[in-house]
Amino acid sequence: MNEVLWTDVAPRDGLQNIAETISTEAKIRLVRGLLDAGVPRVEATSFVSPSWVPQLGDAPAVLAGLQPELGRLRLLIPNLRGLELALAHGMRNVLVTIAATDSFNRRNVNRSVDESLDEISHIVELAGERACSVDVAVSVSFGCPFEGVVAPARVVELCEDLAARGVKEVGIADTIGVATPADVSAMCALVAASLPIDQLSLHVHDTRGLGVANVIAAFAAGIRRFDGSVGGVGGCPFAPRSTGNVCTEDALQALHALGAHTGIDLQAMCAVAEALASDLRRDLPGKLYRAGIWSRLPQETPAETSVG
Ligand code: MG
Repeated sequence: MNEVLWTDVAPRDGLQNIAETISTEAKIRLVRGLLDAGVPRVEATSFVSPSWVPQLGDAPAVLAGLQPELGRLRLLIPNLRGLELALAHGMRNVLVTIAATDSFNRRNVNRSVDESLDEISHIVELAGERACSVDVAVSVSFGCPFEGVVAPARVVELCEDLAARGVKEVGIADTIGVATPADVSAMCALVAASLPIDQLSLHVHDTRGLGVANVIAAFAAGIRRFDGSVGGVGGCPFAPRSTGNVCTEDALQALHALGAHTGIDLQAMCAVAEALASDLRRDLPGKLYRAGIWSRLPQETPAETSVG
């Protein structure tokens, strides 16, 4: 009932917005660190064109270095060609994105939403033959940088359509970080009225500071699948000064306090965030790894100091 499936997307959604090149070894270390901390699923990389996202151009090498862990990894694919590459690398779980608006979809994958839906049907069919499950995230579900506010009814319609096409997990994504907890509560109730709630997931960005609040709102509405990134690493190409995905360990301390079971060790997550910050030579947006976990136990008495 309170079992949560958390997916850490730092190696993909987080790193794809980082300008400086990160070594393949550092990426593999990041994924392993997340898995060792108990994260059940990690979005490891993406088979998008290196000319679009140079940071993820080493996807084949990253996957080659993670062969024993492939069963706990998810891969973002842009199209059917991406699926073929994913299958050739032994992947068993892929994610495709489709936007709630035509403008964003064309900007992202150069296709209309209807064209993307048709391609998703082909992806589900081919993946199904190869025992690979397909998740789809509906980008800009709460707001689009080109079309503004998105009608919740449009998101519901798309989610229903995707489920009917055989998509296993349908993600409601606040790609540009504009949702409030009230928006999330309303959206979750609407979508859950037509789809089994355990088929839904929430993907939020902390662009405007409401990431953790939005996760709590979705948890209260019954959602049990979430995405986030360790340390809150990342950004958004449409908001150059913005922060990234909701920080995994910051959100988990709230969910754990509400009784959620995730299997994730927060102390280990803080160590992963610290190592990533060191690799990137900068502080990350996450708060817990910088402040430390509060143990609720009395602190050691500080050494006597002269107070003059
Ligand atoms: Mg995202």
